[in-house]
Amino acid sequence: MVKVGGEVDAFCTKCELTLAHTVHAVVAGRPIKVECNTCHGVHRYRGSIGATSSARAAPKGEKAVRARPEVVGFETLLAGKDQARARPYSPKETYAVDDVVDHALFGRGFVSAVRDGGKLEITFRADVKLLIHGRA
Ligand SMILES: [Zn+2]
Repeated sequence: MVKVGGEVDAFCTKCELTLAHTVHAVVAGRPIKVECNTCHGVHRYRGSIGATSSARAAPKGEKAVRARPEVVGFETLLAGKDQARARPYSPKETYAVDDVVDHALFGRGFVSAVRDGGKLEITFRADVKLLIHGRA
């Protein structure tokens, strides 16, 4: 709960930064007047802009250094499939997306896509292979 004399993060127009401010006045639980702890300027509370507009305000070039989303591992993906229904791979069988297959050479994988022309995209631990199916 915000109270007079307490601290809030607010945008200071003088410092042009979101900084700690001391609350001078509170209405209905919201600070309305704050004092910047850095420059001691007293102004209306503007809230913390960091959370709401960081995407818009992000300068160009920052994207390059931003951490990439973590790549989901093969084991994690495979764990989400129904491995109890794993079938040995055979070009004579017909498979659907998410089917788990055991390949003689590549090991266990799962169907990540079904392509036209009787082709399957199967994701194995080491590689993604394009294999045929439905050639009965
Ligand atoms: Zn300031």
